[in-house]
Amino acid sequence: MGKVEHTIDGSAGEGGGQILRTALALSLVTGEAFRIRNIRAGRRRPGLLRQHLTAVRAAIDVGQAAADGAEMGSTELVFRPTRIQPGAHRFAVGTAGSATLVLQTVLPALLTAHAPSTLILEGGTHNPFAPPFDFLDRTFLPLINRMGPTVSATLERHGFYPAGGGRFTVAIEPTAKLSPLELLDRGEIVHRRGRALVAALPLAVGERELDALQGRLSWPRECLAVENLDARCGPGNALLVEVGSAAITEVFAGFGERGMLAETVAETVTNEVKAYLAADVPVGVHLADQLLLPLALAGGGAFRTMPLSRHSLTNVEVLRDWLDCAIRLEKADNRTVEVTVG
Ligand code: ATP
Repeated sequence: MGKVEHTIDGSAGEGGGQILRTALALSLVTGEAFRIRNIRAGRRRPGLLRQHLTAVRAAIDVGQAAADGAEMGSTELVFRPTRIQPGAHRFAVGTAGSATLVLQTVLPALLTAHAPSTLILEGGTHNPFAPPFDFLDRTFLPLINRMGPTVSATLERHGFYPAGGGRFTVAIEPTAKLSPLELLDRGEIVHRRGRALVAALPLAVGERELDALQGRLSWPRECLAVENLDARCGPGNALLVEVGSAAITEVFAGFGERGMLAETVAETVTNEVKAYLAADVPVGVHLADQLLLPLALAGGGAFRTMPLSRHSLTNVEVLRDWLDCAIRLEKADNRTVEVTVG
């Protein structure tokens, strides 16, 4: 067996699934093998859960890789990619685990592959603590497209926790090399939108969320709407709030759950939106941790964001070590950080 170039401590920093996905993505792009120990040691149920195992299997498939420890509950994995295999792939989480996080793992390598790809992803599409499909489609992929590739995503079926059963497709036209991206100023806000998705639940849940949102943000009613989804994808409820500016469209999400008031869902999301608007930056907290890897692969770029999350700080550490790339973090004031890569 070839040598293992990198050893990662999965309990470092944030200590969850993200450090594993970042390592898998980097391994696919660089062709370098790695060992990760203490997978998700910081979590109540450590080791590989269904969503993480699907991400590992997706990476094995895309990277024609050999792996030891790719099993449910495993806390250690050795991963050795051989060559990138673009083309048609289908990845099914099999539970309501996030399918967008599975995409996060294999997308970077496919952006610069030698041929196009078409992916089918199944599982959760609207999960708490993961990028909702709309964030992928409206926020993340348009930025990736500015870096050279052409990636489009199509939602075929919503998947909510706990039922799952969501499905989306992704078409990827790669580029030879990613170009740097700069997002320093947000510019004017040009559109606002609030959508309450409701599946197999009373429409009043969505109406109450929008009333509460309107009360807290004072947005005109015309930009708010309830969407009644096919009851077969329910029960499910998400409140998606979009802020479009000259530079970027950001999407914020809240999720209803049994026993939680519609007003509480709205309050959580509007707090995030208000903090983003007050910070006057283009890049929100979640986008920040997800932009670091593409920028590092492009070898350059910069963005202004809010104080970095532990997810971002963990990604910075892994990227610095693995790619030996310079990432500078400069605190402009209490609300703003400027990140410069390369
Ligand atoms: P674990 O179960 O170990 O906590 P996980 O693999 O489910 O881990 P994390 O490691 O916490 O998840 O990573 C979650 C990812 O989802 C991060 O990249 C984070 O930025 C992103 N994310 C979470 N919530 C949102 C949101 N509302 N919008 C966009 N992205 C989000």
